[in-house]
Amino acid sequence: MNSLKGKTVIVTGGSKGIGKGIARVFANHGANVAVVARDLSTAETCAAEINGGEGRVVAFSANVTDRKSMESMVQKVAETFGGIDVLCANAGIFPSAPLEEMTDDDWDTVMNTNAKGTFISVQTCLPVLKKAEFGRIVITSSITGPVTGYPGWAHYAASKAAQLGFMRTTSLELAADGITVNAVMPGNILTEGLEGMGEDYLNEMAASIPMKKLGTVEDIGYAALFLASKEAGFITGQTIIVDGGQILPEN
Ligand code: NAP
Repeated sequence: MNSLKGKTVIVTGGSKGIGKGIARVFANHGANVAVVARDLSTAETCAAEINGGEGRVVAFSANVTDRKSMESMVQKVAETFGGIDVLCANAGIFPSAPLEEMTDDDWDTVMNTNAKGTFISVQTCLPVLKKAEFGRIVITSSITGPVTGYPGWAHYAASKAAQLGFMRTTSLELAADGITVNAVMPGNILTEGLEGMGEDYLNEMAASIPMKKLGTVEDIGYAALFLASKEAGFITGQTIIVDGGQILPEN
């Protein structure tokens, strides 16, 4: 799959975790990658680490909840690379709050970043994406919400399900422009954030997965790469679950 060679990919939340894995996979396949996060210095460190492959990796600062900052980032990326071909709308947060203690602010913060942030990311990239040879939008959703539940994550689960409703409708609206909109739904993925949780915790998580291991950030990157490829051009409004079989057991 080399149709992304020389194409330009924006990865929101690209400085850490799954986004960093997505950025690395695209860069290793010859794409130019814009690593986008609020904290520019972390994004720059990430870009420096990933750079060295065929594609050029550049860090940009933007907040997916802030339309102006996204518009300005999109303009800078388009100027830097000459266009935008793929948006990986990946930025997300997952603070935990039991339902009885969840505040309006807790709810709004999660929905603003995960659901509204996806809307703002897609809408601000759209004018440039429309000019691409084949435009692609790949959303990072989750199994949590669309398929499973997890105590403490009612707001998160709602936001991840919201992304899929958004995806199905936007895929229809953008189909005639040749832009596909799809989503990857990760299960439990080993990120820097989880590494600090200790071996016992990680072993316990792995034990509940049929493949007996957590996913890697690159596992999600490869699914995103496929959905973004020219070869996946007739797939739109669809999801790929990447979870080592986690949702399958009946008990
Ligand atoms: P992570 O390691 O915490 O990284 C989050 C990334 O998003 C960082 O680059 C962060 O950088 C950025 N970010 C957060 N808020 C932002 C905002 N308002 N604007 C721009 N960038 C923002 O998270 P992760 O675990 O990789 O999760 C990434 C995505 O995968 C999320 O959508 C999450 O729901 C989904 N997911 C993760 C798992 C998992 O097991 N990890 C499973 C299912 C789904 P700054 O803080 O500098 O902005």
